[in-house]
Amino acid sequence: MKINDKALNIPPYISTTWDNITSLFTQNDILIVILKNKVKIKIPNLESDILELIFKTHAKTLETTPKKSISFGFPALGGIGGGLESITSGMQHNPEQKNAPNIPEDIKNKIANIAKLFADEASMEIPKPVDNCNCVHCQISKAMQHGMGINIENLDEEVSDEDLKFRLWDIEEEGTKLFKVINPLDQNEHYNVYLGDPLGCTCGKKNCEHLKAVLNS
Ligand SMILES: [Zn+2]
Ligand SMILES: [Zn+2]
Repeated sequence: MKINDKALNIPPYISTTWDNITSLFTQNDILIVILKNKVKIKIPNLESDILELIFKTHAKTLETTPKKSISFGFPALGGIGGGLESITSGMQHNPEQKNAPNIPEDIKNKIANIAKLFADEASMEIPKPVDNCNCVHCQISKAMQHGMGINIENLDEEVSDEDLKFRLWDIEEEGTKLFKVINPLDQNEHYNVYLGDPLGCTCGKKNCEHLKAVLNS
């Protein structure tokens, strides 16, 4: 017979680890063990001090069973049972740690995945990483933004007029002063713009955006 914090071994009745055991109780001095797979095991004739030990050990394993929160194994992070905010609460950008070692990729990926899950949470505030800082806070913030689909690289980069123009309309030169303006999202939407005399566009509106797009191209 072996009873320790890992396993319960009472031959010939049972030998298993505690995590396979759902609950214990006694009925008419018979110990009844309910397993995770719903199997009920009856163990008669146990000494009362053995019974006590079994119950005590079971209670202990219940207390130490890890909670169902994701642990990063990173002291500053702890569990995140309370949601994403608890990752960053109490964490602050620390310029003194700006050259901190990188958080392992797999942990960053976990953070990114969790951030993705919480992305719809309205109350969720994404912490802002400080440029060129590698402190734990900033690394985590970056990972979270990454998970939420925010491209940090482009975050502060202003979209130039040039980019916008190309995004709105594709322009093809069809002939002398004649241009075809196509919606890049819908190839069926296209207009012909004539830059000669009279200036015009097949959409029929005066000074339309297609005309402007060609003029600015
Ligand atoms: Zn920082
Ligand atoms: Zn037009």
